[in-house]
Amino acid sequence: MCDEMLAGLARWLRAAGYDARLAARSQKDADIVACACREGRTVLTLDRGFAGKVAAPHVLRLDSHDLDEQSRQLRATLGIDWLRAPFTRCMMDNTPLKELGETRLDRLPVTARRLPGPFRECPTCGRAYWPGSHAKRILHRLETWASEG
Ligand SMILES: [Zn+2]
Repeated sequence: MCDEMLAGLARWLRAAGYDARLAARSQKDADIVACACREGRTVLTLDRGFAGKVAAPHVLRLDSHDLDEQSRQLRATLGIDWLRAPFTRCMMDNTPLKELGETRLDRLPVTARRLPGPFRECPTCGRAYWPGSHAKRILHRLETWASEG
C-alpha cells in the first residue's frame, strides 16, 4: 500500500508482479493503515510523521525519494524480488492481466503483432502489454534492481 507520493514506486512494484495499491490523495493516514491491515498489506510511505500519528505495525518509511534507493531498501527490508512475475499486473491500476486471445491481437500495433509474445491486456482499463522495446527497458531496470546488493 503506497502513499500518494509513491505512485511511481507503485507502478514499478506492479511491473514486478506485486499487488500494490496506491492510497487516494484524500485518504487519511489512519484510513490507509486500517485498509492495509484489513488487506494484509505493508504501508510504504515517505512521510516522516506517518508512523508517529497512528499505531501502525506494518508501516515502512522509505529513506529516499530516489527510485533506485527505494528499490534497494525494499529488497533489503521486505525481500522484494523485482523479478517475481514481471508484466502480470497492470502498471496503471494493479489489475491482474489476462492473455490477449488470438482474436484480439488487432488491438496491438502492427509491429508488435510480429513479436513472439506474450501478449496481455488489462480487463479494467483495456491497456495492452507486449514485449516491445518499452517492456524491455522496464525489464532491464527490474533485472538491475534484482541483481544489486
Ligand atoms: Zn489497467
